[in-house]
Amino acid sequence: MCGIVGYVGYRDAYPIVIKGLHRLEYRGYDSAGIALLDEELKIYKKAGKVSDLESHVKDIDMVGSLGMGHTRWATHGAPSDRNSHPHQSGNRKLSIIHNGIIENYAVLKETLLAKGHVFMSDTDTEVLIHFVEDIQQETGLDLQDAVRIALNKVVGAYAIVIMSADEPDLLIAARKGSPMVIGVGEGEYFVASDATPIVEYTKNVIYLNDNEIAYIRRNDLLIKNIDNTVQAPYIQRLELQLEMLEKGGFEHFMLKEIYEQPRSIHDCMRGRIYPQEGKVQLGGIKEYTEKLKNIDRIIIVACGTSWHAGLVGEYLIEEYARVPVEVEYASEFRYRNPIISEKDLVIAISQSGETADTMAALELAKEKGATIFGVCNVVGASIPRLTHAGVYTHAGPEIGVASTKAFTAQVTVLTLIAFYTAQQRGTITQSKLVEYLTQLNDIPQLVEKALKANDRIVEIASEFKNSSNCLFLGRGSSFPVALEGALKLKEISYIHAEGYPAAEMKHGPIALIDENMPVVVIATKHSSYEKVISNIQEVKARGGHIIAIVTEGDNDVRAMADYVIEIPETAEPFVPLVATIPLQLLAYHTAVMRGCNVDQPRNLAKSVTVE
Ligand code: GLU
Repeated sequence: MCGIVGYVGYRDAYPIVIKGLHRLEYRGYDSAGIALLDEELKIYKKAGKVSDLESHVKDIDMVGSLGMGHTRWATHGAPSDRNSHPHQSGNRKLSIIHNGIIENYAVLKETLLAKGHVFMSDTDTEVLIHFVEDIQQETGLDLQDAVRIALNKVVGAYAIVIMSADEPDLLIAARKGSPMVIGVGEGEYFVASDATPIVEYTKNVIYLNDNEIAYIRRNDLLIKNIDNTVQAPYIQRLELQLEMLEKGGFEHFMLKEIYEQPRSIHDCMRGRIYPQEGKVQLGGIKEYTEKLKNIDRIIIVACGTSWHAGLVGEYLIEEYARVPVEVEYASEFRYRNPIISEKDLVIAISQSGETADTMAALELAKEKGATIFGVCNVVGASIPRLTHAGVYTHAGPEIGVASTKAFTAQVTVLTLIAFYTAQQRGTITQSKLVEYLTQLNDIPQLVEKALKANDRIVEIASEFKNSSNCLFLGRGSSFPVALEGALKLKEISYIHAEGYPAAEMKHGPIALIDENMPVVVIATKHSSYEKVISNIQEVKARGGHIIAIVTEGDNDVRAMADYVIEIPETAEPFVPLVATIPLQLLAYHTAVMRGCNVDQPRNLAKSVTVE
């Protein structure tokens, strides 16, 4: 996870690096640090947020036109000043920032300790830079070769940038399993974990591939493979706009992103559905249409919120395309020798397109001959580059660590895949397709309407903000919505929350219900409506407080529930897209009232690039 940014050129590096760190802070916020090279190599680092680092250096003249910075998501060693990046070699000449994990660091460290190396931190990262120094000392090789040899011996995932006091015009950047983008300017280069720190300076970027090392000087860029063969750089144009990275008047990125959903869902469907013709068109998977007709099974692999989107996808694909679907946690799937054949389609879902476990799961499935689709938000990220085909979610950059608009966009894409597959396999009638696509087309307006419940949700949040626990219940495709509602609440407000299929409640969770327990129930007027009403009664009979998400105008549930949030009426397959909205707002307002940092919840990071 962690954010990496670096600059070499004619400008002062510090303002570029510090601004870049602010943009990347969503990736990790245990500590922040900067290295600058002017006449000498200087390191400044501090546990805490980027703003803590800024206060730490506020009276220092931060000079140097070569620099790099890091925001950490600690894996090895507690978040502290000492463990903050950049780390240095023993002779203090080399400095490194690192995203990922050096898995064989313990063995390397033992050897280096025996040779007299002294370490200042508990990190795996520091071991790597000492290892490079050691290779230089032992072999007399220059830094470029020493880095390459070291990386050949390293096990694990990394994106690194290295600076040397002896090379005032050189950044060395390398990646394996963690993202790294190079911005190409005129007489200057930028490196970063994603394009957000780069976009305001240049739109020309190169995505470094795994096992590549870039030697970057202000007027020269050389990319080599880890085996020392020169690689031709492929320069791409960035689509990203600067405004997309700003809060646009909202108090938090999360709130801005919640309110962006009418637009993001619309963007996700644009050019892909033709309601009057009853046609879905997905350019990214078109070439695999024949394959889709003949697959035996779909396996969805994902983590966290994306896994919840996958569960919604399971309901929709099975219901309409009549293909069996399994939804797997990527981290479990990859380690349990799953049975996969070339008749399987694996769909990997990841907002960032960099999620380490999802990437490993799809690589495994690919090796076993399955066809792989990606459902990702970040264009050009690692997962879309590894898959055979895919459908981008086009939600725009998501900065809030708790995913909102990326989730609804993933659900939208899976809805499209379900209908597309159904159409190709002939499991849906044309008239039904026209009817559903017409309704799907209206979803952005319905989401807009659902957002109008905001004030009501503020009132409800203020009632329950001091709760210690909360239960979320739903049936059918509202069950994953309940899971997602619970995840949102727990990750940003730190209230313990669980999502359950409503009928499962009586097999355990009902024991928790008392007069202090808020129970959020998705009770829209669809297939399990009557059953959900019974579940509401069961909660009421035990003194629990019901917050019901209901279809507009439903007075029956209103009569039973303590609090009601109305959402506009829609057909059953689209309920997840609309019912999610009030749950996001409920989590958001509760967290704000509890004084939590909603955009940067504790211990979390947005893009999980470690296993
Ligand atoms: N493993 C390194 C550490 O714990 C880097 C973690 C990161 O990606 O931020 O410091």
